Amino acid sequence: MSDCLFCKMVAGVIKPDVVYEDDAVLAFRDINPQAPSHVLVVPKRHISTINDLTGADAELVGRLYLAAKKVAGQDGIAAEGYRTVMNCNAAAGQTVFHLHLHVLGGRNMHWPPG
Ligand code: AMP
Ligand code: ZN
Repeated sequence: MSDCLFCKMVAGVIKPDVVYEDDAVLAFRDINPQAPSHVLVVPKRHISTINDLTGADAELVGRLYLAAKKVAGQDGIAAEGYRTVMNCNAAAGQTVFHLHLHVLGGRNMHWPPG
């Protein structure tokens, strides 16, 4: 078993609060939510960062966004608006090195982000 936290969730060793799942992605609630609705969408296959993506992952990245759209609809934040964020490496604030898309909503977001 990989030492990766999100791979353990995909494998079912650690059980997050799952809100959506399909063959390619898993979406679950962030343990430390930064908004009333804060979901993480992760690919089931381990990819560490955006820098590790290749052309072969193009569809998978699209699948992450389609899942984000779905969970936003489920959480009732689609119409009012929500933010998607994918941090890449330490300076951007990435702490878990398994690709993940944050989906944040249920409050007004600020710009620029901190
Ligand atoms: P990032 O800082 O962009 O790498 O985001 C990692 C996210 O994973 C943070 O928002 C954490 O709160 C979240 N996180 C860490 N551990 C868990 C966990 N066990 N279950 C759910 N979310 C987690
Ligand atoms: Zn992983």
